[in-house]
Amino acid sequence: MSHLSVRGLTTGYDKVNVLHDVSIDVAPGKITCILGANGAGKSTLIRAILGLTPPRKGEVLWDGRNLAGQKTHAIIAGGISCIPEGRKVFPRMSVAENLALGAYLETDSARVRSRLARVYEIFPRLKERAAQLAGTMSGGEQAMVSIGRGLMAEPRLLVIDEPSLGLSPLFVKENFNVIRQINALGITVLLVEQNARQTLAISHYGYVLSQGRVVTEGTAEALAGNDAVRSAYFT
Ligand code: ATP
Repeated sequence: MSHLSVRGLTTGYDKVNVLHDVSIDVAPGKITCILGANGAGKSTLIRAILGLTPPRKGEVLWDGRNLAGQKTHAIIAGGISCIPEGRKVFPRMSVAENLALGAYLETDSARVRSRLARVYEIFPRLKERAAQLAGTMSGGEQAMVSIGRGLMAEPRLLVIDEPSLGLSPLFVKENFNVIRQINALGITVLLVEQNARQTLAISHYGYVLSQGRVVTEGTAEALAGNDAVRSAYFT
């Protein structure tokens, strides 16, 4: 089971709380999305899940265990991997080197090789470009490198922060197809996005975050048909 549950989470920075009593469930095997405008608190929610901005109230449960007090590397070792926004690749390292970095917790080189083979199966283009410097790849290809690097940790939950940010429409489509494909392999996905239309098209369930609170939740179909969601978040 790989179930993430955030219960009554309140947290923030310095004296200010950014998230207020946020509760979300990320069902095993599904794609769950968090939609919200700039500044809604999406990144802070990810930081709280990864132990970077710990809860001030409430809790983050992973497989029923409270993550309170756990360091980020221990949370990642426990099966949660995060793809940062902006497709951060190491530009002067090759594609293969970027991918290998994603498996830094794994010391058995045979296992690293078999994970690499699996990532190359999902992204044949990365195999073709294994020796190319990541900084010289197109935006869409860098997005693949960044998702591939996240997969190298063999996560049970992949948290993906704004995968469409800064990508042209063609690459956005490609990237969302890849996310769907990864989910079909059995990996649970938490997708954090501003691009509501395409996100809801691939998600099973979603939450709308506004000013640090969950204001609406429902199945992706229900949210896509909700007039308030459409007028606020469909561009
Ligand atoms: P974006 O889509 O722009 O990344 P977001 O929904 O991810 O927005 P957050 O980055 O979580 O939102 O920010 C929510 C609020 O918290 C904002 O008002 C922001 O100014 C504030 N904030 C974010 N990071 C910090 C920080 N490190 N220190 C202080 N305040 C912060």
